[in-house]
Amino acid sequence: MENHHKFSIWYFLIAIWIVLIVHNLIIQMFAVERIPYSEFVKALQNGRVTEVTVTEDRIQGKMKIVEDGRETEKVFSTIRVDPEVSKLLEKYDVTFKGVIETHFLRDLASWLFPVLFFVGIWYLAMRRFAAQQGSFLTLGKKKARVYMEDEIGVTFDDAAGVDEAKEELVEVIEFLKAPKKFTKLGGKLPKGILLVGPPGTGKTLLARAVAGESGVPFFSMSGSEFVELFVGMGAARVRDLFAQAKEKAPCIIFIDELDALGKARGLGITGGHDEREQTLNQLLVEMDGFDPTIGVILMAATNRPEILDPALLRPGRFDRHILVDKPDRKGRVEILKVHLKGIEWDKDLDIETIAGMTPGFVGADLANLVNEAALLAVRHGKDKVGMAEFQEAVERIVAGLEKKNRLINEQERKIVAYHEVGHALVALCLPGTDPVRKISIIPRGVAALGYTLQVPTEDRFLMTRSELENKIAVALGGRAAEEIKFRDISTGAHNDLARATDIARSMVKEYGMSKELGHVYFEKERQKKLYDYDIGLRPPKEYSERTAEVIDREIKKIVDSQYKVAKDILMKHRKVLDEGAALVLKEESIEGERLRKLLEADKKPETSSITKRA
Ligand code: ADP
Ligand code: MG
Ligand code: ZN
Repeated sequence: MENHHKFSIWYFLIAIWIVLIVHNLIIQMFAVERIPYSEFVKALQNGRVTEVTVTEDRIQGKMKIVEDGRETEKVFSTIRVDPEVSKLLEKYDVTFKGVIETHFLRDLASWLFPVLFFVGIWYLAMRRFAAQQGSFLTLGKKKARVYMEDEIGVTFDDAAGVDEAKEELVEVIEFLKAPKKFTKLGGKLPKGILLVGPPGTGKTLLARAVAGESGVPFFSMSGSEFVELFVGMGAARVRDLFAQAKEKAPCIIFIDELDALGKARGLGITGGHDEREQTLNQLLVEMDGFDPTIGVILMAATNRPEILDPALLRPGRFDRHILVDKPDRKGRVEILKVHLKGIEWDKDLDIETIAGMTPGFVGADLANLVNEAALLAVRHGKDKVGMAEFQEAVERIVAGLEKKNRLINEQERKIVAYHEVGHALVALCLPGTDPVRKISIIPRGVAALGYTLQVPTEDRFLMTRSELENKIAVALGGRAAEEIKFRDISTGAHNDLARATDIARSMVKEYGMSKELGHVYFEKERQKKLYDYDIGLRPPKEYSERTAEVIDREIKKIVDSQYKVAKDILMKHRKVLDEGAALVLKEESIEGERLRKLLEADKKPETSSITKRA
């Protein structure tokens, strides 16, 4: 809409300009020569003037001249100085006629140009205003500025290294392609999909790719766009956005940076019902009110899910969360390949090596890297991007990221690797623990520097004592591994310790699993209620101080003994610990299966040596 306006005005101005130029050309073609009045009088006296047209203030006519010895005629024009020129003309017997000159064009131009000028200025000012304040020109009917991107041109191939997220989104695409068919078969989809992940991992890209792959309209707005307006406008925009989307179904509504809009309510400094709160409420109302079977999918992205209002995450709202994680080494190779597509690069370029040099880089960093390397190649006067440029570019970007504290150093990576393999190895060795799916040292968020993913194979309702003990041992495996390898421990385990202690406490107090205390249930400390804070009460303990001491001792005993179990396992399989850590350091994330193979390879020679000894 806006673009269209802009172009038509520019076209108009250009057209006027062309007309003026053509006009000038025509005048030049007729080659009217402007001469001084005196020259005209002289020519008159010499009898060279043949024909004259007189207007109010000009005299135009033809006169004979001698040029290169030949006689020709030229058209001349001069300013009428003498008002009595007709007498003079009569005297020299020249045919002359009077003409009333039309000043129409000149007059038109003299008012059209100022008007155009001011319209132009007004228009530019309005555009500025509109850019700042949302679309002023469309303030009346359409309150939301919406980008309708029918032709996205982004496909899944453009987003690499995020295969798990893509897998989950495939279903959404199928639904958008044929919503009727999908729902007829009984398929049910979540209303809201929340893409969660660190900045620059490709959340926005993925949302656009979903639209591109399914070929449906894409209504995209950023969370901050809803709130910078006058009071009440944000809510109106939300309403309008949904109304438009319903008309265009099947389609996608995408709210980027949802946290700007969806911060937990009541956190604002103003406290009361501010603008953002109204907007958020409206969003919740709209989400509850629409029927997903009409084919509208609501997507949002955020890198700070923890500050979102819990109401947004409730079932029926943004209840499906898709993690868009930092890429591992293999993922980085794929992302680099995507971004190298548009670039001339040396065939000796080793993408694997570049991926190895860039742990912690996200998609946006890698895109930046390729760009930087290409610029360096130009500066070096090369026609292809080579390894040297990438090396230099990596150094530059790493320096920048380190300043922003986004990279962990080599020693930290090593500690994290041993820590995570420690967890995994203990889990593999103990019966009744959940299988290890994945071991990763790709940092996520602020708290966790790495993770070991254990996925239960079945739902459990009962757990035995030994299973609980094993769980504690697994939680402590990380710290034990650090101690074995580095003879020092780090702060990276405090979550693990909390978990281990929690389980141990439950064993003692709730499940009656401690020898000393026997089969007695000690009520868990009640969660503090608002009421308790108000009157300053501590929740009452239902057992004596002495018992409390015993409980504490028993908890410590369980935790300590399980720490020893974990440490013994790791000492016994020290070789696997080292191999596993090296592997994780190299590849950043490995399947649990690979560690299991290492472990089996380690066990076999051992059993054979035992049989030999026996
Ligand atoms: P986010 O929304 O997660 O902050 P974006 O989607 O805006 O990140 O990503 C910014 C840019 O970084 C993209 O336009 C793309 O060029 C690049 N990029 C990010 N992630 C990927 C990826 N997984 N594959 C390819 N390019 C990526
Ligand atoms: Mg984004
Ligand atoms: Zn841990």
